[in-house]
Amino acid sequence: MQTTDATVIQNHERLGATPQILASLKAKVGEGAFDSWLKGVSFGAVGATGVAGVFVPTGFMKSWVSKNYKKEILEAMEENGVAASDLRFCVRPASASATAGKPAPAEETAEARPSSLASLCDTAVAAPIGSALDPRFAFEGFVVGKPNEFAVAAAKRLASSPKSPFNPLFFYSGVGLGKTHLMQAIAWEIRRMAPERSVAYLSAEKFMGLFTEALRTRSTGSFKDMFRSVDVLLVDDVQFLIGKGATQEEFFHTFNALIESGSQLVMAADRAPMLLDGIGERLQNRMVGGLVANIDPPNYDLRLNIVRFKQARLGVELPPEVVEFLALRVTSNVRELEGALLRLIAHADLMTEEITVARAEVLLGDVLGGAARRLSLDDIQRKVAEHFKISSDDILSARRDRSVARPRQVAMYLSKHLTSRSLPEIGRRFKKDHTTVIHAVRTIEGLMARDAGLARDVEVLSRQLGGC
Ligand code: ADP
Ligand code: MG
Repeated sequence: MQTTDATVIQNHERLGATPQILASLKAKVGEGAFDSWLKGVSFGAVGATGVAGVFVPTGFMKSWVSKNYKKEILEAMEENGVAASDLRFCVRPASASATAGKPAPAEETAEARPSSLASLCDTAVAAPIGSALDPRFAFEGFVVGKPNEFAVAAAKRLASSPKSPFNPLFFYSGVGLGKTHLMQAIAWEIRRMAPERSVAYLSAEKFMGLFTEALRTRSTGSFKDMFRSVDVLLVDDVQFLIGKGATQEEFFHTFNALIESGSQLVMAADRAPMLLDGIGERLQNRMVGGLVANIDPPNYDLRLNIVRFKQARLGVELPPEVVEFLALRVTSNVRELEGALLRLIAHADLMTEEITVARAEVLLGDVLGGAARRLSLDDIQRKVAEHFKISSDDILSARRDRSVARPRQVAMYLSKHLTSRSLPEIGRRFKKDHTTVIHAVRTIEGLMARDAGLARDVEVLSRQLGGC
């Protein structure tokens, strides 16, 4: 049955039965999955065609919820006396998302109402300045560790200070390490704690789009006013402005005007300000005039904590060895780690499949890289021997002094975690029996928690062996 966006939008009054439907959904999918995906959903009245609108806060959630929870939503509606024959999933306008989703900021700040209702069901809504914030990107959802603790501390300080403690604040890191998440967490926090302050978050690309549009419609005056009336402006991915002559220049003026009027500016880029070649020296100098906070790639500890945290949030539990496998093997960035976790969960869930390390290795083949999949025990023994400056023969010998026994245990540990070989098989290849392997794995696990040097050795080795 066909329905138009317009029909769905006309019916975007909140259904009276929304709380009951949500309660039924929670009972069906469990609290963890409900909190992660369904809590912020609202429903529209059923239209003449039998189609009901389901409104979700972001594009990403739209695709996930429509793919995974359609059946449950239809059932929950029916149980509560709402007979819909089909659902239409839409990204809710920014102004509506704040009232239903969590965290619930006060409205209406610089993020105003959508200009065109017709785009609601297909894309995140474009407000005049700010973009919709992702409800998952709050401080509560951000796992802190050594590589990001400075950036988090700066973000929290800024969000909780009525006066700018440093201006501008500039975040930089490689992709998928949490810049966007932290910027949006700042925005959520300010809206929660100081709703009277106007906050706008947007990408540099969107800044350029708005500016171009203002030029085209000869409304640069109102463009300037709009930006200059914001208390806290967060601009993401400013590397996009490199080489964008007029936009870059306008950004520079906006930047100066905001700072001079005491407004707070927060920026993020994929590199340090001084490496933003081609963005203009004046702008670069101003960027370093505040606080520059870098986020390092996650270390093993942080990766492990992130996987544990995310699976708990999603209300699932993979076997601990699979969790460790993920943390050891998916080292590049958090986005990829999250993607790998979601993929395993989706398989466990949709295929009711038990996820073992061997299965994870197959399912994540493309993330882990071709070379990594074929990792042999010989490779591991050779690499570990090299790292600890002993010979491969020593590893296979019966020598028990620590300078040889410890590397041997590390090699066994890595064989267990980085490959899907069985314990007896690993034992055979090390000329030991499987109980020795179990003992080695436990010993190294215990030591890694206490001995930072050893943890680093294991981290470096697994990265080299994983080839990622
Ligand atoms: P960037 O903007 O640096 O490219 P994002 O902020 O988009 O990265 O982060 C990518 C994904 O990883 C997001 O889903 C984000 O929630 C998640 N993420 C990154 N760092 C962390 C962290 N420390 N704790 C929890 N999630 C994180
Ligand atoms: Mg980003």
